[in-house]
Amino acid sequence: MSVVAVANQKGGVGKTTTTVNLAAASAESGRRTLVIDADAQANATSALGAESQGTFLYDALLGQADLGRCVVSTAWPRLDAVPSSMDLVAAEIELASRERREYVLRSALQEVAGRYDLVLIDCGPSLGLMTLNALSASDAVIAPVQCEYLALEGLSALLETIRRVQMQLNPGLHLLGVVATMYDGRTRLSQDVATQLKAHISSTFDTIIPRSIRLSEAPSHQQPILDYAPRSRGAEAYRELTEELLNRLSDLPPSTLYRSGALDGVAR
Ligand code: ATP
Ligand code: MG
Repeated sequence: MSVVAVANQKGGVGKTTTTVNLAAASAESGRRTLVIDADAQANATSALGAESQGTFLYDALLGQADLGRCVVSTAWPRLDAVPSSMDLVAAEIELASRERREYVLRSALQEVAGRYDLVLIDCGPSLGLMTLNALSASDAVIAPVQCEYLALEGLSALLETIRRVQMQLNPGLHLLGVVATMYDGRTRLSQDVATQLKAHISSTFDTIIPRSIRLSEAPSHQQPILDYAPRSRGAEAYRELTEELLNRLSDLPPSTLYRSGALDGVAR
């Protein structure tokens, strides 16, 4: 099982869109995939139509339910989700005084270790305790960056946070790459940002996600782009990005975060 956090404290850069569509493409390729919605806005939850049965990520973090009980299946085969709720804001406060408060999500995830090939964590727009939990629970992190003015601003704060997490909380965390999103090839600005990203950050993914109306429409139909517009440019881009991501993951040393395969055979 590989766990990947999708993080950038800048809002609206395409984290949720990237999480949901990477997850769908991973599931399409035959991998058992889980999305953890670690954002109180619950955008990934609604984009996937992940109706909660009454238990949310909050309950797992607060020890009120096993994470496995919070998992719901989606309409997309092999794709499950742990839904979020506004309560998650309170979880940050309630967990703040706990010992090992950065490791709560990692502990909760142990329970499903081996049931999934890939777990993607959709982070909210902050570098607060939930994002630290996501980074502490992950083998790798990817950072979507919007091809817009000031896109690179704030990226250094994210990179610094990742470095701190590597030093203090999770030495095994890899920065898998930065991905350019909402690229509009007609604008000079988009081209400049994409070029600058590649020049400054060597791990930038080759795949660039285009700005596409289809991608922005899909969530309101509670469908991943692969379902909503399977042959669209956006869908193709996310398939390509998924292939790149899975290739890069396969080059990483084996994960030591979770008891690998402990529950193999129990997999559905
Ligand atoms: P937040 O920080 O609030 O969690 P986010 O980083 O998760 O935001 P998204 O919700 O994925 O960002 O995207 C922000 C908005 O941009 C959404 O309305 C989404 O539908 C739209 N969007 C994302 N990617 C694209 C794209 N490639 N083309 C067009 N619209 C997009
Ligand atoms: Mg989001």
